[in-house]
Amino acid sequence: SGWWEAVQPAARDPILGVTEAFLADSDPKKVNVGVGAYRNDEGKPVVLECVRKAEQIIAGKQNMEYLPMGGLVKFNDLSVKLAYGDTAPVLEEKRVAAVQTLSGTGACRLFADFQKRFKPDSRIYIPVPTWANHHNIWRDARVEAHTFRYYKPSTRGLDFEGLMEDLKKAPEGSFVLLHACAHNPTGVDPTADQWKEMSQLFKSNRLFPFFDMAYQGFASGDTVRDAQAIRIFMEDGHQLACAQSFAKNMGLYGQRVGCLSVVCDNSQQAVNVKSQLQQIARPMYSNPPLHGAQIVTTVLSDPELKEQWYKEVKVMADRIIGMREALKSNLEKLGSSLPWKHITEQIGMFCYSGLTEDQVDRLTKEFHIYMTRNGRISMAGVTTGNVEYLANAIHEVTK
Ligand code: PLP
Repeated sequence: SGWWEAVQPAARDPILGVTEAFLADSDPKKVNVGVGAYRNDEGKPVVLECVRKAEQIIAGKQNMEYLPMGGLVKFNDLSVKLAYGDTAPVLEEKRVAAVQTLSGTGACRLFADFQKRFKPDSRIYIPVPTWANHHNIWRDARVEAHTFRYYKPSTRGLDFEGLMEDLKKAPEGSFVLLHACAHNPTGVDPTADQWKEMSQLFKSNRLFPFFDMAYQGFASGDTVRDAQAIRIFMEDGHQLACAQSFAKNMGLYGQRVGCLSVVCDNSQQAVNVKSQLQQIARPMYSNPPLHGAQIVTTVLSDPELKEQWYKEVKVMADRIIGMREALKSNLEKLGSSLPWKHITEQIGMFCYSGLTEDQVDRLTKEFHIYMTRNGRISMAGVTTGNVEYLANAIHEVTK
């Protein structure tokens, strides 16, 4: 008998399943608003110009040696400057331990393993809802996971009271997962004042803020504005940690380039923490990949390329913001009596539409429109060419 008879097929990933179904549909009107990757107004994937230029600068000049275990040092420096600010005191005091990671997912996983190793009895608090992989990551790291209220279906906005109530009950020493901006899947972020209030609670109740920042710059078009939560917590003196990804904001999805940073008490502690993060990485993958980190380093260290990146990230953000407005105004033009203002109030790649599972199923069956059954519309899949069709279909199934 074979070795793996007991192995049953794994549960299908709901998001990847949407793409498969979309590809199998031969109707020319079909629309995919399931994927979490940017598309231009022709519905095509985009490689940023600044990235193409960086590739040309690198081409033929680099060796293929291993990076150090913690990744490209210059990349880490530039990455944390982007997150915390060029002149952040925590950076000048060398209090930040930073390692290059396998994109945002790898940064979250590395942190979860670090948490388990050094605070083995601590909990992670995860918002409801969240990017589904967060649950998998902390589960596989064997951290005790709890949830806190985040989204209020009735307002399609933040359940701030519920959030504060739940986090007030978290035991001292708990870790809390926060989306730094453009919360996935809801597109709902706390305001600056709400972040400040949360920061005070984290202080008084000794909670640890872990920021997953997968969309810096991609949300508002401004990398500083999108980092405001981190800056607010940092100014309040928290020892936070941050997972950065260059998948969305630099369009480097498949390159797997990200950074995990942990703010420490002092520079010696930062050295210690970095050495331990590297030790966790070593038996998993030894060291991170080279090319993506070189691209980011080239873009961020060249003032002209960096300027161009800022422009290009803004073009992506603005296209999405424009499509939110177009979708909302088309629904209103059709005479939909439902409230749609959350479409433009939410931010980032996704619109948490409030469509029910049945309505989503009808969109797929009758209109060849594909999205996850939680009603999450990827605004990146909406274009001037399909927005009217989409609005009309949504109107039909919500009448
Ligand atoms: N965190 C959130 C909230 C995300 O939405 C994503 C991607 O969809 C990620 C992390 C990780 O992405 P990646 O591993 O491609 O950087």
